[in-house]
Amino acid sequence: MVKSDLAIFGGKKAIEKTLVSYNPFGQDEVIAAAEVIRSGVLSKFLGSWHEDFYGGPKVRAFEDKAAVYFGVKHAITVNSWTSGLIAAVGAIGVEPGDEVIVTPWTMCATATAILHWNAIPVFADIEKATYNLSVDSIKENITQNTRAIVVADIFGQSADMVEIMALAAKHNLKVISDSAQAIGTNYMGKKTGTFADIGGYSLNYHKHIHTGEGGILVTDDDALAEKLRLIRNHGEVVAAERGDSDLINLVGYNFRLGEVEAAIGLEQLKKLDNLLSEKQKRVAKLSRKINDLPGLTLPVVADNRDHSYYIFGMQIDPTIAGVSCDLISDALNAEGLPVNSSYQNIHLLPMYQKKMAYGSKGFPWTSEICKREVRYDKGICPNAEKLNDEFYLGLNTCALELVDGDIDLIVNAFQKVWSGLEHIS
Ligand SMILES: *Cc1c(COP(=O)(O)O)cnc(C)c1O
Repeated sequence: MVKSDLAIFGGKKAIEKTLVSYNPFGQDEVIAAAEVIRSGVLSKFLGSWHEDFYGGPKVRAFEDKAAVYFGVKHAITVNSWTSGLIAAVGAIGVEPGDEVIVTPWTMCATATAILHWNAIPVFADIEKATYNLSVDSIKENITQNTRAIVVADIFGQSADMVEIMALAAKHNLKVISDSAQAIGTNYMGKKTGTFADIGGYSLNYHKHIHTGEGGILVTDDDALAEKLRLIRNHGEVVAAERGDSDLINLVGYNFRLGEVEAAIGLEQLKKLDNLLSEKQKRVAKLSRKINDLPGLTLPVVADNRDHSYYIFGMQIDPTIAGVSCDLISDALNAEGLPVNSSYQNIHLLPMYQKKMAYGSKGFPWTSEICKREVRYDKGICPNAEKLNDEFYLGLNTCALELVDGDIDLIVNAFQKVWSGLEHIS
């Protein structure tokens, strides 16, 4: 290996082709979608108190099957998981100014859903090994204003929900699980996402199964389920028509999933277990071949759970590798392997740094509903920040089919860069 062999210094790439993209669709989805289109009924929801308030036949059938699959009393579809998160935060009855503890190492919507109800996101730190919320850090961030915790089962494995639920019970807090990336995985013998008061999954194009856009909320609580259905579908009108006494957080939305998407979702759900076990097998093969590279740590799967490998979240120890994580990432990208050396530190987004959300005057933070000064400065989540700045190396394994030949190419790229580490610095 000479320096100029490395693609970053002009050498031939280890991966010259485009890696095969993941596609969970087949003929079943085509037939299911066509059947709905032929029926002419692309959505049957009615935003008033009527039997169609709960949606059309495909939506209801999909919800029934999803409830069975996830082992919950209620599965409620929505037009995106962002919508699902907004509905969930509303349904638990947050008041403006309530504090909701959330992870910074997640997709932005996990935290934005809190702001949508004028509640205040409070960022707790993550565990370095699993990237999930640290129970100790949640504890440190609980105040008398805390109302709820929004957990993300990030990259595809459950957070420590037994401990988090126990902590929440002690402090009388509600818990929401953002299990967008961990759909179909298990924790303590139950589906990830079903431990919280409300959980749920994304059906967006980038996820393990999808309907283009969409989401599913899950809960065992009848009252929360009905509240979610009201928020999904112009609840303020329905509450008036039914004479409901509970009007809390019934600001109307249209979060309804279409019939085509629901019909596709029914087919996708049937395939989920196979798709996941196939992904797990292929990732295991990749892991076996790169697990001895010095300074490279592969994803840690914590006890009593499995991993969907939405993202293969690795870490580099630059003191062992002798090269910074960013440079290794650049070298791998040059070889044709699309890896990232950062993920998310949501608290560092300008919206939080400048405390500018609704309008120009700092609402909700500057309003009297906000009971104390909540900090978002760099330093509040040291593990999440250090991972992003120094150690993290992610491969988006959900986006890749990982066929045998492609795994070999990926392994070649890693081995090539590691054998040339002395040249990269
Ligand atoms: C994808 C994702 C979302 C958003 O889901 P959409 O269906 O795209 O709105 C939220 N949280 C996490 C962790 C995600 O990965």
